[in-house]
Amino acid sequence: MSSELRRDIDTKSTLDDFDIKLKIMVLGESMVGKTSLITRYTNDKFGGRYLCTVGIDFQKKKIEKNGKKVMLQIWDTAGQERFRNVTKNYFHTSQGFVLAYDINNKESFEKVQFWIEEIKSNAEEKIKCILVGTKCDLDKREVSEEEGQKLGEEYGYQFLETSAKENININEAFETLVSEIMNNFKENRRESLTLSTNKIGKKKKKCC
Ligand code: GDP
Ligand code: MG
Repeated sequence: MSSELRRDIDTKSTLDDFDIKLKIMVLGESMVGKTSLITRYTNDKFGGRYLCTVGIDFQKKKIEKNGKKVMLQIWDTAGQERFRNVTKNYFHTSQGFVLAYDINNKESFEKVQFWIEEIKSNAEEKIKCILVGTKCDLDKREVSEEEGQKLGEEYGYQFLETSAKENININEAFETLVSEIMNNFKENRRESLTLSTNKIGKKKKKCC
């Protein structure tokens, strides 16, 4: 578990009712439906008039996972070029990413590669991501499901097609990512336990 996460648990658990806080960022080009995805997940709403996301902002949601109360802080970003530097500063404090493209917009799919490269060069190596093709309720598809699946497999990311409008695969997308993040913590803890046990073993050998 990262020291930042540890700190959050220690300092906030008495004030808010949760065991773990996770930061997730939603990335993708402008208009692919990032804000809609988050709003559907956190407030179960679609439509209305959202303010265009300027720079970066977050919404919260509390869920239960593996018997733990998890507070999700879901960061919404503006995909516009001028905000890319602002966004990058938040990468290293995030535990996971949702990479979104619009299945009805080929260009947004091609741009996903840009966001993957940004994550690779700014976030931790083992960071968890999920690839999401949005607006699957519309009937003007430019990217096939197979293409999305293939890109996901290439990077080891789970892939889902979603619709914030029709509430398709929204919970699944976020909860798949949260499960992966939490499994990642478990693995890291096991690794560090093994490492420290090995160290103790080695020390003992030296002494005797
Ligand atoms: P963002 O710029 O990536 O945050 O995108 P928004 O969430 O603001 O959405 C951009 C536009 O796409 C808005 O007009 C939304 O109503 C529309 N939109 C978002 N999600 C969906 C969806 O699942 N289905 C349909 N049909 N339209 C959507
Ligand atoms: Mg937005």
